[in-house]
Amino acid sequence: MQEYSIFMRLAIDGGVPVRKTILPYSRQQISEQDIATVTDVLRSDWLTTGPKVEEFEEAFAAFTGARYAVAVSNGTAALHAAMNAIGIRAGDEVIVCTMTFAATANAVLFCGGIPVLVDCDPDTLLIDPKAVERAITKKTVAICAIDYAGQPCDYESLHSIATQHKLVLLADACHALGGIYQHHPVGCLADLSTFSFHPVKPLTTGEGGMITTDNELLASRMRQFRNHSSTSDHRRRHEEGSWYYEIKDLGWNYRLTDFQCALGLSQLQMVPGWTRRRQDIAEQYNAAFNSCPAIQPLSSRDGLSHAYHLYVMRLYRQKSRVDRSQFFQALRAEGIGVNVHYIPVHLHPFYRETLHTKLGQCPVAEEAYKDIMSLPIFAGMTDRDVHDVIEAVTKICDAYGCS
Ligand SMILES: *Cc1c(COP(=O)(O)O)cnc(C)c1O
Repeated sequence: MQEYSIFMRLAIDGGVPVRKTILPYSRQQISEQDIATVTDVLRSDWLTTGPKVEEFEEAFAAFTGARYAVAVSNGTAALHAAMNAIGIRAGDEVIVCTMTFAATANAVLFCGGIPVLVDCDPDTLLIDPKAVERAITKKTVAICAIDYAGQPCDYESLHSIATQHKLVLLADACHALGGIYQHHPVGCLADLSTFSFHPVKPLTTGEGGMITTDNELLASRMRQFRNHSSTSDHRRRHEEGSWYYEIKDLGWNYRLTDFQCALGLSQLQMVPGWTRRRQDIAEQYNAAFNSCPAIQPLSSRDGLSHAYHLYVMRLYRQKSRVDRSQFFQALRAEGIGVNVHYIPVHLHPFYRETLHTKLGQCPVAEEAYKDIMSLPIFAGMTDRDVHDVIEAVTKICDAYGCS
C-alpha cells in the first residue's frame, strides 16, 4: 500500500486541509467608492423614493438594453411584480423550470396562479424548450425561463414557442446580469427580466431587485405595485405640492431605498470587469478539471457570454468511489465552501402537497440534483483562492481513485 503524506491525506480523514478558513461559494465586493456614495445619500434629503432610484433605474436600463427598469426591494418582489403586471390570477398556469430557487415558483402562487414545473436540458440544466411545449395547455399564460448559473437560456426557441402560443416570456435573470446572448445583453431577452441584488448575486444593494422591460404599461404597473398600487408617490406629491393619490388595486411596499440605489449605481460600473474575472476563473477550473474524469463541468453553449454566477460541476457516479454527499463533505473539510444549487422545486414538501408534484416528473433535473456541486466563484477571489479550489478538488479526485 502506498504511504500518503499528511498533506496528501484528506482533511476529512485527519490530513491537513488545503485552507484553514472556509472560502465561500460567493460573496460581495464593496469598495471605498461604494461606501462614499452611500454615505453621501445618508446625508441628503432623500433616503427613499428620491432621485437615486430613477438614476439607478436609468443606468440599469441602459446597461441591459431595455427601455425601462423598475427597482424593487428584492429579487422575489421583482418576480411578484412581474407576475402581477402580466395579470396572472387564479387558475392561470405559468411554466417554470424546476431547476431554480423556490421564489420563481412562489411568485406565481402569490398571484393565485399555478406554477407548472418542467424539466431541464441535461448538459446546461436550462429550461428544455421541448418540455415547455409539452406542458402548454389552454390555461397557460406565460413561460418563466431561468438563466441558471448565469448562462442565458435558449431564447430563440423560447421566443418562437411564446409567439406561436401567444404567451408572455419572462426571464428570471437573477444569476445572469452581465451575460450576453447572440449579441444582446441579459435584461432585454424576454418580455420581462428579473434581477436580485442579494450579496451573493452579480451586483449587490444588500437586498434589492429590478425588473427590466420594453413595455411602458407593464413598467408603470410595476411602479405602482411596489408602492401600494398608489397613483402617486411621496416625491411626486412633494414636487406637486399635492396630497392626492388613489389606490387602484391591492399593492405592496416593495420599494428600494435611495442609499441602496446609490450602492447599486456604484456597483453597476464594476459588472463588466467582474463578469470577465468570473469567466476567467471558470476557464481555469475547466482546464484544471480536464484531468479529473470523475467530474464534469456543465456545458456552455456557443453564441453567448456566460455570466458564471455559479460554477456547477457534476460528479460522475460511475467513475467515482464516493457519491456527491461524500465528495461535498470532503471539499468542506478542505475549507472549500461548496454548495448545491438546487433541490428541484417540485421535490420540496410544500409543492408536493399543494401542487401534487412527484418524484419522476422531471427525471433530468432529479438525476442532475444527485450529482451537482457549485464551487466558489466570485470576482474578489484571489489567484491563491482559485488555486486552493483546484488543489482541493484534484486532491479529493486522487484520493478517491477517480482520476
Ligand atoms: C436569488 C434568486 C431569487 C430571489 O432573489 P432575492 O433577492 O433573494 O429575493 C430568485 N430567483 C433566483 C434564480 C435567484 O437566484
